[in-house]
Amino acid sequence: MIRRRFEEGEEMRIAACMHRLGTESAFEVLARAVRLQAQGKSIVNLGIGQPDFPTPPHIVEAAIKALRDGHHGYTPANGILKLREAVAADMHRHRNVIVDPDQILVVPGGKVTMFFAIQMFGEAGAEIMYPDPGFPIYRSAIEFTGAKAVPIPLLEEKGFSFSAEDVLGRITPATRLIIVNSPANPTGGVVPKEELDRLVEGLRAHPEVAIMSDEIYARMVYDGQPHASLTAYPEIQDRLILLDGWSKTYAMTGWRMGWGVWPKPLIDLATRLAINVHSCVNASAQYAGIAALEGPQDSVDMMMAAFAERRKVIVERLNQLPGFSCVNPGGAFYAFPNITGTGKSSRVLQDEILNEAGVALISGTSFGIHGEGYLRFSYAASVEAIEEACARIQRYLDR
Ligand code: PLP
Repeated sequence: MIRRRFEEGEEMRIAACMHRLGTESAFEVLARAVRLQAQGKSIVNLGIGQPDFPTPPHIVEAAIKALRDGHHGYTPANGILKLREAVAADMHRHRNVIVDPDQILVVPGGKVTMFFAIQMFGEAGAEIMYPDPGFPIYRSAIEFTGAKAVPIPLLEEKGFSFSAEDVLGRITPATRLIIVNSPANPTGGVVPKEELDRLVEGLRAHPEVAIMSDEIYARMVYDGQPHASLTAYPEIQDRLILLDGWSKTYAMTGWRMGWGVWPKPLIDLATRLAINVHSCVNASAQYAGIAALEGPQDSVDMMMAAFAERRKVIVERLNQLPGFSCVNPGGAFYAFPNITGTGKSSRVLQDEILNEAGVALISGTSFGIHGEGYLRFSYAASVEAIEEACARIQRYLDR
């Protein structure tokens, strides 16, 4: 290969927006954990947020059958109709809302709906609100567009939820989009229905502000609580983008399958983004998506029962660690203990626990400045792994 040398002043000129792009530290910690494992170290991984269960076999078989049946080509950009009908039926079953399949855009993973929504509203001079601590890609994608990322602080004393007044009070004439995520990553926090009621009520005064509701953990709510969805409010349906997908519910993170429900005025633009970026989602994965939604749901129930049991174990064990205190997360599969009692910063503790105790978890600061003083533990891991991780941390802290 011939390498061309760049003369001084001749460096490639990368677009400024590229330098504003953030990342997801969970992948960085995963890479470090894998490197340590390759060096022969034993690592318990509670870092990455994905179910540790395999995709249910009937879903895998549906994809294999689709390939054997010759579904090798492009599909419509928004997804095959049967899949979008299955999503609409699922929306009715779990959220009791009627959605037109033509409002659904099937995308390669939940992240894509988020990126498209942010692209659609973000530009220099605009403001987009996002939860902090929250999924790190919100802020990254907002800043990529040149818009100002305005954090909504999610505080432990409010159960890692927000108060509607707090959100509404941050709206300015530049606000274009508000991102809500419940149940939440990284805190497991759940926004109570009364707070959503008040938010929606207050949004009446701001009809120009769009909302993106990231409900990727909608099926993962504990203690028999119903999931409160923003899709339940007809008054905002003309400006609500719903984000959901298969990754977490069906243990399908690697399949890259998500869906967005878009308001009618936005669906064509969203589809146009899809055509520009990825054309369509992998055809066989779409058939798997139908099997997931229409097939037996016992594997989802089984996973949820396992997560509920693990939640009990991890919260109890974390509260026994010196300097830790952990509230009961209402949803998702993350525990977000307060570690200020250890006297260490989140980042230092994350690194020390990885390098010296052999447990991978994520510093709260990877999710925003309001994550300082916390660590994220994913309990999508076996009870044995959780027990072992906590025992290792206990030994490390007792040293
Ligand atoms: N939204 C939240 C809150 C998440 O935690 C994640 C993944 O961790 C996603 C969206 C993205 O999901 P996917 O893997 O389907 O892109």
